[in-house]
Amino acid sequence: MSVSWVTVLGATGSIGVNTLDVIARHPERYALFALTGHSRIDVLENQCLTHRPRYAVVASDEQALALQARLLNAGCPTAVLVGAESLEQVASAEDVDVVMAAIVGAAGLRPTLAAVRAGKRVLLANKEALVMSGALFMQAVKDSGAVLLPIDSEHNAIFQCLPVDYARGMASVGVRRILLTASGGPFRDMSVEDLKTVTPKQACAHPNWSMGQKISVDSASMMNKGLELIEASWLFNVRPAQIEVVIHPQSVVHSLVDYIDGSVIAQLGNPDMRTPIAHALAWPERLDSGVSPLDLLSVARLDFRPPDPKMFPCLRLAREAAESGGTSCAVLNAANEVAVEAFLTGRIGFTDIPVIIEHTLDCMASESVQDLDHILLTDRHARKHANDWLSRHF
Ligand code: NDP
Ligand code: MG
Repeated sequence: MSVSWVTVLGATGSIGVNTLDVIARHPERYALFALTGHSRIDVLENQCLTHRPRYAVVASDEQALALQARLLNAGCPTAVLVGAESLEQVASAEDVDVVMAAIVGAAGLRPTLAAVRAGKRVLLANKEALVMSGALFMQAVKDSGAVLLPIDSEHNAIFQCLPVDYARGMASVGVRRILLTASGGPFRDMSVEDLKTVTPKQACAHPNWSMGQKISVDSASMMNKGLELIEASWLFNVRPAQIEVVIHPQSVVHSLVDYIDGSVIAQLGNPDMRTPIAHALAWPERLDSGVSPLDLLSVARLDFRPPDPKMFPCLRLAREAAESGGTSCAVLNAANEVAVEAFLTGRIGFTDIPVIIEHTLDCMASESVQDLDHILLTDRHARKHANDWLSRHF
């Protein structure tokens, strides 16, 4: 078996670390082409020393000089590159077979799209990239012949519940509904009143998953599920109205597909991102991920209930943006990124997040998407609207 060369965009994050854990279990199958980091350079340094990728990418010249010197000193052959263009280069280089797209937020759009356009096997964790650029992203997949495999646990589950012809664009044949499960996050059993005073620390303490800060806040507000609804509609070619969100506190059933003949197919497993990562790395084969077997007897029960729209207005905002189409989802995403950052830095309260997003969506009429520059311009305008609102009110 020949070795596959892998680039991990966002190697220093939660998904990146889990990806390296799975890859390290299979040195005969995978070699690392590039690892990228942004602020956690100490983590990147240790990853380079352990995995010895050909390249590492960092954000600034100062980081690069310091890291390169330390790696040379330690006898590590990794060459250190700098900046956004280098991210695109290591995502699209000829020698690369697989790209894990695990940068968080809009910053991941260009390098993820570069990997898609270069026809790579793209493991998509960076849902924001697809939410922002939907139709353009999926068209690029078709044009280049890239193999797009979802890492988000729900989407990976849905992928596993669909016929294998999915890869040939036949996903929605016979599909009545997609049931997207949600843990409901750390605040699922609180009242609307309690939500006003929750802290970033509480929001980041997810009951079932250990994740980066931004997605943890998104899970607490259920914007994560809203972004996932948009993600699912693009990945599986289904209308937003066909996607139902169900709160499932145990996070054991990762999602379900309801077919027109009454069959409902689900994928189950322990909540550990190494399962979808290993699945997407090896697909259509299977790979040992290091995840312990699911013990259904100790899980004992599986609960399902509908989300409360008063508790989670972000879910409604995302559904409306999905239905409106055009640039709305890029506006939603940008405003959410600004609002989450403002919450994490203590500038606003948790319940201000949907207020900022709704205001930004109201300010910007939905336009039909022309090209990538149009999406990036929309992203900048939406951030400006959201930041202006923040300056006026806080
Ligand atoms: P983390 O915050 O843990 O990691 C984010 C990664 O992106 C880090 O490597 C970070 O570098 C890098 N990064 C941040 N900003 C920039 C930037 N401006 N330019 C380049 N790189 C940057 O996030 P997660 O790993 O939790 O999530 C990554 C993506 O995967 C998100 O889109 C998330 O929605 C998605 N996802 C995550 C899941 C999870 O379980 N964690 C589950 C499903 C989806 P550094 O750390 O060095 O600053
Ligand atoms: Mg998910």
